Amino acid sequence: RPRVLSGIQPTADSFHLGNYLGALREWVTLQREFDAFYCVVDLHAITVAQDPAELRRRTRVSAAQLLALGIDPDRSALFVQSHVPEHAQLSWVLECLTGFGEAGRMTQFKDKSTRQDADHVSVGLFTYPILQAADILVYQANAVPVGEDQRQHLELTRNLAQRFNARFGSTFTLPEPKIPQETAKIFDLQDPTAKMSKSVPAGVVELMEDPKRSAKKIRSAVTDNEREIRYDPEAKAGVSNLLVIYSALTGRAVSELEAEYAGRGYGDLKKDLGEVVVEFVTPFQDQVRGYLDDPAELDKILGKGAEKARSVAAETLRSVYDRIGFLPSM
Ligand code: ATP
Ligand code: MG
Repeated sequence: RPRVLSGIQPTADSFHLGNYLGALREWVTLQREFDAFYCVVDLHAITVAQDPAELRRRTRVSAAQLLALGIDPDRSALFVQSHVPEHAQLSWVLECLTGFGEAGRMTQFKDKSTRQDADHVSVGLFTYPILQAADILVYQANAVPVGEDQRQHLELTRNLAQRFNARFGSTFTLPEPKIPQETAKIFDLQDPTAKMSKSVPAGVVELMEDPKRSAKKIRSAVTDNEREIRYDPEAKAGVSNLLVIYSALTGRAVSELEAEYAGRGYGDLKKDLGEVVVEFVTPFQDQVRGYLDDPAELDKILGKGAEKARSVAAETLRSVYDRIGFLPSM
């Protein structure tokens, strides 16, 4: 079976709607046709400072959310990145194949690094996309479900795979990004020109927050001073974002929603979308709490996932080390 790999950072108490609609929803679907490897990427999390106790807690909360969203640990290897040392080992090899200028062109690094002063920007944040390439290539993944913001990193991953293959012989599978059409980029409710993001929590709908709070955030979403409810991402970014979220959570077409809300006010749209979100997150949160009530069982699931992941990752790493000329360890 073809393989799929993706990861998510345990850097917040909750995933947000952008994570879900841009990527996680696809993870759940793809596990049916693919041999799936899904990880909580704690190595990526420490590219910015983390409190140790919080990181540990958030790693479990992340895994619990993935299970509650429908990741089936009997089908998919669900694991924690640091439990599989081959990610970091392959990353080093790939770093040595990456140009400094090439890494410097990554726009996520430019965005994230300019939010802090230079001494607080770690080298790890700079090399993060190369570790991400290793995450993907170590499983020979065919598909990588991610949001639009990851497109450039996937391009780098493919370039590195091709470079390695050209220099040392065919080793890596070239992965294809799986970026959803309608929900590739969910925008911040307070700034509908910016991506909804864990690291800039302004207008972020968190899946684990009090649902009433989510509904309130949606009611106070920034829109525009027209009255018309119409999908037009250029001229009406805020309203269009709400329509996209509404459509994705209900399975109803945007055009159908436009017709339903013709002649009605933004208040109606926001109130109804708030209810849709509450209905979605309420049962989800109950399930997450259920998984968190039994951390031993959760850790067992993650242990089993890591074991499966390691057997695949170790095989790739062995062949990489051999091809680049490392002496086999006896
Ligand atoms: P950070 O801002 O710290 O990078 P994040 O919100 O981007 O956090 P990640 O863990 O980096 O969260 O991303 C997990 C997945 O969610 C990735 O596949 C990413 O592309 C996707 N994603 C994140 N934000 C959005 C968004 N606003 N719209 C669609 N997909 C998103
Ligand atoms: Mg991100």
